[in-house]
Amino acid sequence: MSYFIQNLRRFAGELLEDPVGGPARVAAALKVKWKTGLEQALGSSGMGRRLAARYRGRGVVLMFHEIHDDVEGNLRMGCSPEQLRMVLAALRAESRDIVTPDEAVKRLADPQAGDFAVLTFDDGYRDNRTMALPILEEFSAPMTMFVPTGMVTREVYAWWLGLRALFQRGDEVEIEAMERRFTLADAPSRNAALRQIGLWIGTDRARAEALNPTFARHAISIPALVDKVAMDEREIRSFADHPLVTIGGHTTTHTFLSGLDDAAAYRDINDNKLYLENLLDRPVRHFAYPYGTEGACGKREAEYVKAAGFETGFTTRSGHLFPAHLSTPCLMPREDAGFAHMSNSQLANRLSGARRALVTKFGDPVAGLR
Ligand SMILES: [Zn+2]
Repeated sequence: MSYFIQNLRRFAGELLEDPVGGPARVAAALKVKWKTGLEQALGSSGMGRRLAARYRGRGVVLMFHEIHDDVEGNLRMGCSPEQLRMVLAALRAESRDIVTPDEAVKRLADPQAGDFAVLTFDDGYRDNRTMALPILEEFSAPMTMFVPTGMVTREVYAWWLGLRALFQRGDEVEIEAMERRFTLADAPSRNAALRQIGLWIGTDRARAEALNPTFARHAISIPALVDKVAMDEREIRSFADHPLVTIGGHTTTHTFLSGLDDAAAYRDINDNKLYLENLLDRPVRHFAYPYGTEGACGKREAEYVKAAGFETGFTTRSGHLFPAHLSTPCLMPREDAGFAHMSNSQLANRLSGARRALVTKFGDPVAGLR
């Protein structure tokens, strides 16, 4: 465990050197560092695998977003092609078959079927074709891309892309709505500031929208940013014809569903399904929540996903897939494997199930049932 203690010392050192933010920022960072340290200890000692045997399910669903070469330049949103390759190699080493969501549901119902993984990519980024697909082809690995209508039509309020553009510009950024000024001297301070703004927004659409005047003041056009990174209708149609690709729903406006009234929440889910089915001329049967935390989606949203005719719905709750999920297929957990930079230990904990043990403090291995 000595490396663990060394890591904690290093984290403490970083915190002392870090001039950004006050005690709350230090406490938040300490929480992240502590979790990361524990993940490293569990993952690299092999202890995670033993402790978490109960948490290893039949399948694991992994989430990615952008895949690009310049991860630092893109402020660590998305991950590198090398990281995707590392995940695929690890799945192969574990003898987990990479399957479509349809096959995953079949396998959950069949005790004889082999263990599996499902690869999912959110938001419809163009680099999923240029950067991810060639690697997936090498591994004959199917992928599912969850596409919000607004990304394709350029009407989505992609505040996260606006923030990235803002942070890429200057050394100092004032976020008026937060009444905060951030000094962005280096990559760690930029990443810390982005995390803080993300935490401040939480699941509050109004706060996300309150960033708009800041974007306007810096002449940042969200539609232009979306146009730069997301597939358009023609690209989606052609991508969907690739034998390894499944297209799934991801709402119309990519907002926090829990903040919408009943009619608006249902419409946001259902209209996206109709849009994609009309665009692709085929049924769209799988769905991922735009924000998949417990605060952003739950029982009500799962009912609407089912009522719209989707067969599965994926959250971002940590955990593996178990046969019990067949009774709540519209609230199935997913593990994020597309954040930069995922360590070997963090990947090991996602594949072994240890991460859910850690996140729930050894609570219920089956995510999403209550
Ligand atoms: Zn999304």
